[in-house]
Amino acid sequence: MISVEEALEKILSYVEVLEPERRPILDCLGQVLAEDVYSTIDIPPLDNSAMDGYAVRAEDTYGTRESSPVYLAVVGEVAAGSLPTKEVEPGTAIRIMTGAPLPDGADAVVQFEDTDEMTRKSSGGDLSQIGILRQAKKRLNVRNRGEDIARGSLVLEKGRVLRPQEIGVLASVGRSTALVIRRPIVAILATGDELIAVDQPLAPGKIHDSNTYTIAAEVSRYGGIPRILGIGRDSIQSLTEKIDEGLDADMLITSGGVSKGDYDIVKDVLAEHGEVGFWTVRMKPGKPLAFGIMKNVEGSRKRQVPHLGLPGNPVSSMITFEQFARPAISKMMGKKTLTKPTIRAIIEANIANNDGRRVFARVIVTRRDGQYYASVTGPQGSGILTSIAKANGLAVIPETSKGVKAGEMVKVQMLDWMEEQGEQEMSPIVAIVGKSQSGKTMLVEQLIPELKKRGYRIAALKHSHCGIEIDHPGKDSWKFTQAGSDAVCISSPDKLAFIRNLNCELKVEEITPILGSEFDLVLAEGFKKSKIRKIEVHRKELGDNLICSPEELSAIVTDSPTDTLIADGFKLPIFGWSDTAAIADFIEKNFLRAISGEGKCLP
Ligand code: AMP
Ligand code: MG
Repeated sequence: MISVEEALEKILSYVEVLEPERRPILDCLGQVLAEDVYSTIDIPPLDNSAMDGYAVRAEDTYGTRESSPVYLAVVGEVAAGSLPTKEVEPGTAIRIMTGAPLPDGADAVVQFEDTDEMTRKSSGGDLSQIGILRQAKKRLNVRNRGEDIARGSLVLEKGRVLRPQEIGVLASVGRSTALVIRRPIVAILATGDELIAVDQPLAPGKIHDSNTYTIAAEVSRYGGIPRILGIGRDSIQSLTEKIDEGLDADMLITSGGVSKGDYDIVKDVLAEHGEVGFWTVRMKPGKPLAFGIMKNVEGSRKRQVPHLGLPGNPVSSMITFEQFARPAISKMMGKKTLTKPTIRAIIEANIANNDGRRVFARVIVTRRDGQYYASVTGPQGSGILTSIAKANGLAVIPETSKGVKAGEMVKVQMLDWMEEQGEQEMSPIVAIVGKSQSGKTMLVEQLIPELKKRGYRIAALKHSHCGIEIDHPGKDSWKFTQAGSDAVCISSPDKLAFIRNLNCELKVEEITPILGSEFDLVLAEGFKKSKIRKIEVHRKELGDNLICSPEELSAIVTDSPTDTLIADGFKLPIFGWSDTAAIADFIEKNFLRAISGEGKCLP
């Protein structure tokens, strides 16, 4: 049996990001942009009015008061979509509507409410003149040309997931199509002699095929295109024929036929015509799961297709879809966030875990008094589809736990929250690793001012092998820790300190979410065992070898860059000790988020 993580890693290693295609923008909802989109126009195209009112010269209004208004001659009118035909000369005004271009000469708009237009109209007064009741500053109620989007600027960067608002932005810059990563076509096959199509009458001993529909709906929900192959019977021949029909898809998902019964032959077909990756995972429900690469079916003309064989039980098949098929589809679509959003909730019933598997319990999550609660949706049999229909979350009980008791905190995957909503984008992180005394700290010290100078916000993360001395005895924070608090946060006008008391050290991936997403880069010192991007600091006198294998590294910084052993030994960018600017360039180019001209971080 393998773990959920191992299974997922394996599956993801077999699927690739698909190629881009150009599509009408309305078809692109939820897809990943495969091009940088620059604007060829200014938006708004001209200075224009943000209010219905009168375009004026601000200085003409100086000194005006409600009790003794300045009066201006109204020389024309301009509506949105048309161009002004007259100029605003001293002592004059032009009546203007929201969105209409600002006439030459004018530098402010006085809204109707700040004029005497209403009183004039109701008293049948003269509209060739207007009284200004309030002084206007220059640019009052004026929207500047290009203030939303300047011509030539990058409006949407490659990698953005297109939501309705991004689709609107594309339309506003005049793009009716966009280059996006193509949606994967997912072939779906139900298997079992007991299955009857949904539109056929049931016969004794038969059941309707529901998995096809759950799975197809899931595929659509996550942006793929479902291709329903129908029902394969429990014979090698029937399955082989059906599977062959699905081999031009980007992925094949079957349900049923993967456990240990006499008729569970999906894995046999996979073994015969493909490579079986594995077929049991340490999870519950969902233990029997096949994954492999289907190929060469019946001398097939078609290419290889990743095949995910989900268990037949309806709940198992949906839960395994969520854990494995969903991330695979997201990866094919070019998405970076592959995890489902999770929250921490108080579980309201005991959940046992007797056989060391990861339990996914179907729960209803509610929020009361600022706290999430999760209640189990009744009987949890893996055949009880309504148990997941009632649920909005899956409480995850780790395989290492014997179970949880009511009142304890559990992690819950939120079934209805999409990836983009739940997951906060993390600040990018790079670790500076090296032997003790190699000069890691010094490099971090050099890089911080260099990157700050370039306008980046930097957080530094220090790894310490021994305990940390910040929680000084006698301080209030210390008293709170002594009293048993799991974390203490001290807030003051100039600093925020967060102390979390731990039994074992957190992984980098668990620390960065605490730092949040507001930094352009987290420079971490140490963490050589983590899987994050690393730059190793090397010092000749400590030996030629590196502490990380070159495949794990992004670059090397060394005091002997000309040393051929180092330079030729590894195909990696090599920097000298004093090349701070070049190292910063490398970090900027490879790890940092794009920042715009003003040094502002793009969303
Ligand atoms: P299997 O993994 O093929 O042994 O199936 C396990 C259980 O799931 C059996 O009770 C099947 O009847 C049920 N099952 C399998 N496929 C489907 C399906 N497409 N729709 C509904 N139930 C199914
Ligand atoms: Mg079956």
